Amino acid sequence: MDRQQVVLHMNHGMGDNSYAHNSIIQKKVMREAKGIVEESMMRLYTIIPIHCFKVADLGCSSGPNALQLVSNVIDIVHTTTCNLNLKPPIFQFFLNDLFGNDFNSIFKSLPQFSEIIEEKKGHKCGACFINATPGTFYKSLFPNNFLHFVHSSFSLHWLSQNLIEAIKLECFDLPLYDPTIEEAKEVIEDEGSFTLQRLESVILDWSTNIKEAVDDDNNNKLDLNTKAEFTTKFIRAALEPLLKAKFGEEIMDELFVRYKNKIVQLIMGVKILEFPTLIISLIKKV
Ligand code: SAH
Repeated sequence: MDRQQVVLHMNHGMGDNSYAHNSIIQKKVMREAKGIVEESMMRLYTIIPIHCFKVADLGCSSGPNALQLVSNVIDIVHTTTCNLNLKPPIFQFFLNDLFGNDFNSIFKSLPQFSEIIEEKKGHKCGACFINATPGTFYKSLFPNNFLHFVHSSFSLHWLSQNLIEAIKLECFDLPLYDPTIEEAKEVIEDEGSFTLQRLESVILDWSTNIKEAVDDDNNNKLDLNTKAEFTTKFIRAALEPLLKAKFGEEIMDELFVRYKNKIVQLIMGVKILEFPTLIISLIKKV
């Protein structure tokens, strides 16, 4: 098996450097994208009646964001079906990630999650089945024409490159690529299976990761060291497993201290260090 499929995962658990505690940027972007998800649901519902609504989240990871999409979709569909005076559907969610993902921590949070949903929606919400689908989204994960809605957030920039090849070549290549708006558009058009519904860019500050409640004004008042620290944790939560596998655990603390110092230098005199994210909504052509 491709070694990257096992080595690549976000930092597990609930520790200081965990993905669970350092993924606020991702959460904020998902919130920005909620309007586009709403638009897609509305569109979908006016086209076909759905009895069992099948949704996949590709690259769900673990921590609070893993169930964020589930919660958003339930919310949006609930409102949409109420507005259209339709019966709410049964939900079937497929949470996908690579084999090394901490699926167990998601499963453990499910009873509490279900309680919250039940409290919020009561019996007005259809039954909700949550499944895990481990494996790479670069291969087939579902039967054809099986899903109604596919979501992926902060995952498609991870490439399917084989890390072993990189090791053989004595170089370390991060398997990541962040396209520009133009590149993303070109790939979608050239591939041809989807109609581009929306393509937008949201720009946040790198240190947005600091706290959910910190807005841009307060962010600007933070000292350089604090900003750099949070930017470093954000990166560490995502890249540490890959770096550890290649360079060894012993050097991780020192590596990220040096990285933080570089960030301090980089953000000196810069008002915000921009973190752009593309939000893309596609409709499969029939
Ligand atoms: N969607 C979450 C998590 C993003 S982190 C959020 O927005 O916060 C990116 C996740 O994508 C990681 O958990 C990583 O393991 C997963 N990932 C990367 N490449 C993947 C692939 N080829 N197949 C499935 N999951 C992948």
